[in-house]
Amino acid sequence: MEEKKLYVLPSLSYEYNALSPHISEELLKLHHDKHHAAYVNGANAILQKMDNARTAGTDFDPKATFKELSFHIGGHVFHSLFWGNLAPAGKGGGGNPSGTIAKIVDEEYGSFDRFRKLFSQTANSTEGSGWAALTFCKGTMRPIISQIEKHNTNVYPTFKLLMVLDVWEHAYYLDYKNDRGKFIEGFWSIVNWTEVNKRIDDILKK
Ligand code: MN
Repeated sequence: MEEKKLYVLPSLSYEYNALSPHISEELLKLHHDKHHAAYVNGANAILQKMDNARTAGTDFDPKATFKELSFHIGGHVFHSLFWGNLAPAGKGGGGNPSGTIAKIVDEEYGSFDRFRKLFSQTANSTEGSGWAALTFCKGTMRPIISQIEKHNTNVYPTFKLLMVLDVWEHAYYLDYKNDRGKFIEGFWSIVNWTEVNKRIDDILKK
């Protein structure tokens, strides 16, 4: 049988020190090379376990396996999107949005400032480990902010992910200690609106 594909850790499109001082080199390296890699490896280990079970004709525990698989794949997908919607401050990162995303945000939230405040509050109030995400619902043609627990709880099926922000402690503790709010403030200096616009434009084209 043909060798089946596995998940691959994507490389970053910028240097490890490029997001400093908002995310330090040491933190970004750790976050990408260790944490994100662990989700990729975790997902692949489960896929291989399932492949082995099929080959051997044995059973595995579906409840535990699929719960864990959802966690790892969610982690991999969210981190991949996260790296993509960041860019060095002043070199593609930060500032006010333009284009389609600016229009959609204005229509739904009244202004970019109101949106930024709500998204920051969403991120800051995430319990424990999770993400804030700006999603888009094609059914209503509205953006919807979601607060995701871990990597996989409260995810809206079929909604497209436009912009995500990791608020797990591993995302900021090394640089900001327990000051999650300050980390979130820094996010607005490195958010890549060009990428967010590309994501929304791709969705609207289909
Ligand atoms: Mn993370």
